[in-house]
Amino acid sequence: MNDIKKFTSFATSNCYLIRPFDNEIVFLIDLPPNIDEVIHYINTNNLTIGGAFITHGHWDHAIGLSSFDSKAYINLDDEHLARNPSEQVGDFLGDKVSVNKYEGNLHNVLDHEYDFLNVYINPGHTKGSVSFEFRDLGVVFTGDFIFKDSIGRTDLYSGDNNEMIDSINNVFTLFQDDFQLFPGHGDDDTVINIKNNNPFIREYLK
Ligand SMILES: [Zn+2]
Repeated sequence: MNDIKKFTSFATSNCYLIRPFDNEIVFLIDLPPNIDEVIHYINTNNLTIGGAFITHGHWDHAIGLSSFDSKAYINLDDEHLARNPSEQVGDFLGDKVSVNKYEGNLHNVLDHEYDFLNVYINPGHTKGSVSFEFRDLGVVFTGDFIFKDSIGRTDLYSGDNNEMIDSINNVFTLFQDDFQLFPGHGDDDTVINIKNNNPFIREYLK
C-alpha cells in the first residue's frame, strides 16, 4: 500500500508513516527510538507532519517523543508509562536510548479532532492500549494488542489477561475482515487471516 510506510526500530517496534490524503500531510503511528530516519524521510520528501498517534506508553513505542516536536496523542491511561521510560528500560540497553523523563505536551487521543480516525480502546497489554482505524484506507494499527501470529504480553506493568480476553472479544471483533492490520511488531496481514490463523485469537475468541 503506497499510503503507508513502515520503519522498524532496533527494538523491533514499528513506526508507520501514513498519508491519508492526496497532499503532503502525514501522520506517524508510534514513536519508537531513533525516529531520525523517519524525520529524515519526511524532510527529504517535502512532507509535513500532522501529528503522531501512540498505541500505548511502552518505551519502545513512545520514547521517540523526546525527539518529536509536533502534536502527539496517547490514551492518558498510559501517560505515566510514556513519560517514564526509565522505569521500563533495563540496563541491557546501555546508552542506546536516552531514558530521561518526558516533560512535553501529550494530547488525549480521545479528544482528537480528525474525522478520518477511529480510536478503539483495548486494554490488556497496558491499561491505555488503543488501536487506530483509518476507515477510508481500510487499515487498522493495533500496537501490541494483536500481532500477526500472537498477542501482546499481559504480564508487564498495568497488563491484565482478563482485559486482554475482553478486548479480543469486544474490540478485535469490530475490525472489518478485509481490513489490513498493522501491528506494533512484525508483519501486517488481513483481519480475516489473523482471525483464522493466529493461535491466540483462535484460543481466546469465544
Ligand atoms: Zn508494549
